[in-house]
Amino acid sequence: MGECDRLQEVLERIRSACERVGRDPEEVTLLGATKTVPPEVIRRFYGCGLRVFGENRVQEFLKKLEFLRDLDIDWHFIGRLQTNKVKYLMGRVSLIHSLDRESLAEEIQKRAERSGRVQEVLIEVNLGGEETKGGVMPENLKSLVEYSLRKPNIKILGLMAIPPYREDPDEVRPYFAKLRELRDDLEREFGIQLPHLSMGMSHDFEVAVEEGATIVRVGTLLFGERKY
Ligand SMILES: *Cc1c(COP(=O)(O)O)cnc(C)c1O
Repeated sequence: MGECDRLQEVLERIRSACERVGRDPEEVTLLGATKTVPPEVIRRFYGCGLRVFGENRVQEFLKKLEFLRDLDIDWHFIGRLQTNKVKYLMGRVSLIHSLDRESLAEEIQKRAERSGRVQEVLIEVNLGGEETKGGVMPENLKSLVEYSLRKPNIKILGLMAIPPYREDPDEVRPYFAKLRELRDDLEREFGIQLPHLSMGMSHDFEVAVEEGATIVRVGTLLFGERKY
């Protein structure tokens, strides 16, 4: 199958998932998760019509950006973020998916203010309580939101999660539902709008869409198996 066909198939599967639960497919953005994917491949998928891409590593992102400057890509940052790398993202990514601690909020605030912007972010939640993964633990979510809401140059648009891997994607459903509930609770508690839920990857994005995902982050299914 060609690259554009692979893209169309994923979009079609998103549409079907939306149809099953009565959602408008326009509500769901497909993000190409392009860690380890070379710039020429990103360029071809752009040619197929994909516009939103997400990178995990700042150095790798900056390198690719040099080769892709001429394209009108909507870049997101989806990986674990060290505070000392935040400055490189300012003005280069529209959305940071991985705000997960106060020190990072502090740094984003500082850098965004300095560059005269309001940085849009998602708060990443560690739903499985996995030590090796990023994300704020659910019990600390409220206080991180409260903290970040006081930062004038940060705008929280919603939540993101990478749930534990399960062979059967249906077993991930409760995690996706949980993220949606946490979002609903925060909206009520703080009287704010959190329109985005970034959840679902290659093997479980349809379940995520059924549970309310507005951004699905797909790598392998579009770009093939990663080499490392
Ligand atoms: C790699 C990655 C993805 C995509 O994973 P696939 O299983 O290859 O679709 C999505 N989100 C994040 C944060 C990732 O690091």
